[in-house]
Amino acid sequence: MEVKFCSLSSGSSGNCQYIETEKSKILIDAGFSGKRLEQLLSSIGVNPKDIDGIVVTHEHIDHVKGVGVFSRRYDLPIYANESTWIGMNKTIGKIQDKNIKIFKSENYFNIRDIQVYPINIFHDALEPVGYIFFYNKVKISIITDTGKVNDNIKSNIKNSNLYLLEANHDIDMLKKGNYPWPLKQRILSANGHLSNDDAAMTLGEIIQGNEEIVLLGHLSRDNNTPEIAYKTVSNLLSNHGIDVNKDIKLDLTYRDKATIIYNL
Ligand SMILES: [Zn+2]
Ligand SMILES: [Zn+2]
Repeated sequence: MEVKFCSLSSGSSGNCQYIETEKSKILIDAGFSGKRLEQLLSSIGVNPKDIDGIVVTHEHIDHVKGVGVFSRRYDLPIYANESTWIGMNKTIGKIQDKNIKIFKSENYFNIRDIQVYPINIFHDALEPVGYIFFYNKVKISIITDTGKVNDNIKSNIKNSNLYLLEANHDIDMLKKGNYPWPLKQRILSANGHLSNDDAAMTLGEIIQGNEEIVLLGHLSRDNNTPEIAYKTVSNLLSNHGIDVNKDIKLDLTYRDKATIIYNL
């Protein structure tokens, strides 16, 4: 066992993912209050004092709510691109200079023993990114909050051992649902959120059936159900000859609790 991964929670009420290697414990986003983040970490037996840093995908509140609190409380470095720093400046409050880490999107950087590649995604934020993590031979890709997945993303995330991919909404449920039209348009747009169908099609192109772990993330409470998201993806993959019970591990993430810990 070399790398541990856990989705502590995923969805519009808050996002936080966890990666652990021999020398690093990293959070991807921290979109909850400090107290809730502490509860989520303790639910998987991790002491927040042991966290080494937080990488941020974009400045929306469901991704940065606890970033400032956690940085101040546990003296944590925060990694984000310059635009995201500008975008989250007011929300997260004062961060010590030594904990402000600025990277360039689509440039590799390292946090201790993990190599990190922040990749451009398509979302209505200043400069949103997904993340690809490398540790020895293990590769983990996290792509949520994106209206589409283009060829650049597909070719970069390919051959991962674990994918966390957004399956935000069922297009029919969203269209027939109660959201005001401008909000529906925003979610459906190329800079909104990824539908179940788009997630399924993306996975259909990149999954090889080599026991990859696939987690569906950022499911909408109002415009999706775990069953529909799971079924849309598993049906399409089985059309591509991939048995989701045998060739890969397909799992959901949750809005209000952690997944199991995946050992890679
Ligand atoms: Zn989000
Ligand atoms: Zn967002």
